[in-house]
Amino acid sequence: MTDLATSDAFEVPALDVAAVRGDFPILARQIHGRPLVYLDNAATSQTPRQVIEAFDDYYGRCNANIHRGLHTLADEATAAFEGTRETVRTFLGAAESREIVFTRGTTEAINLVANAWGRANLEPGDEVLVSRLEHHSNIVPWQLLARELGFTIKVIPVDERGVLDLEAYRALFTERTRLVAANHVSNAFGTVNPVREMATVAHDHGALILVDGAQAVPHQAVDVRRIDADFYAFSGHKVYGPTGVGVLYGKAELLEAMPPWQGGGEMIATVSFEHDTTFAAIPHKFEAGTPAIAEVIALGVALDWVGRIGIDAISAWEARLLEHASRRVSRIEGLRILGTAPDKAGVLSFVVDGAHAQDIGLLIDQLGVAIRTGHHCAQPLLHHFGVEATCRASFAAYNTLEEVDIFADALERVIGMVR
Ligand SMILES: *Cc1c(COP(=O)(O)O)cnc(C)c1O
Repeated sequence: MTDLATSDAFEVPALDVAAVRGDFPILARQIHGRPLVYLDNAATSQTPRQVIEAFDDYYGRCNANIHRGLHTLADEATAAFEGTRETVRTFLGAAESREIVFTRGTTEAINLVANAWGRANLEPGDEVLVSRLEHHSNIVPWQLLARELGFTIKVIPVDERGVLDLEAYRALFTERTRLVAANHVSNAFGTVNPVREMATVAHDHGALILVDGAQAVPHQAVDVRRIDADFYAFSGHKVYGPTGVGVLYGKAELLEAMPPWQGGGEMIATVSFEHDTTFAAIPHKFEAGTPAIAEVIALGVALDWVGRIGIDAISAWEARLLEHASRRVSRIEGLRILGTAPDKAGVLSFVVDGAHAQDIGLLIDQLGVAIRTGHHCAQPLLHHFGVEATCRASFAAYNTLEEVDIFADALERVIGMVR
């Protein structure tokens, strides 16, 4: 591969795609006799060998349970684990590493906020604003809790481009609005939401904002303090890290005031049958039980890898891939792109007249191209646009312009076959 991203107007350093690809063993795979073209990065990104090797290193060298041990292995494992907390803090621009809670993923991070903050703060008649663009994991936890506690969920509408309607957003606030739940980047359409402005509006009305950053962290620089997010969540496996680990950032004073969610080891100060059990300080109060130690350490390695490539370089490169892909597929007759926001990241969603998304997905896989078809865990959004399913190509640092062409050619062929 010879693609080399050139610097753009913002003087972003170029990204050496060939070198990036060299870090990903899986990209050498053949699928049905053709080179793999992996364009399902919004579902999960591939893993560089440095992250794969982190597992070998951990289990082969310093596997031990953390925090409680006094022996050398436990010390080393604890240092690596807590070192990752500091890596994540820097990566998100958080003020303190105790504001970083490790979870199993974005889904668990949001459920943590719903169950710990939500249960303690939401009452009948209160209102939670949830955007139309949300992933099911930022809808269903609020619905489950609303059923129990009797608060109201109001939906922030989107326009025909898939852009959040900020006027309508402002108008939704009342004195009962307690929380806004919105993603930073939509996994279904790629829309980048103005979360900083949204946070300001929420705070002006005395409400908090929870930002689902699962789809933002892999694609652009994130600064939780600049956004002034109260909570921010992301998953390791979408940012070149492993599955089974994610992060909840929360402002220290909020986390401190929240009751624990799950009980068990690691999260206590003292346990007694005679006196009140007392809890550990944050973040440990929210990390009951033995965490995914190897996964957390490997997530740190993944974020270091992103840092070495440069998130701004990745952002600029993916913008080129998205632009090229959008231009190529929009020439196809009867193809409609869903999500045409001026500010988009990483995702190209589309439907084709007379061709089922499922058929396209199955046939294009025969040509070595991996895309996603379906509702992308965003049924309320797709229904709003009158579709049950779309095809979605999504990009990562290792994709090339040549791969985009292979994908577009394959798509044309496949559509010709099914129509
Ligand atoms: C993937 C995704 C989630 C869920 O992440 P998990 O890793 O499955 O917990 C939530 N929100 C968005 C925007 C996503 O893309």
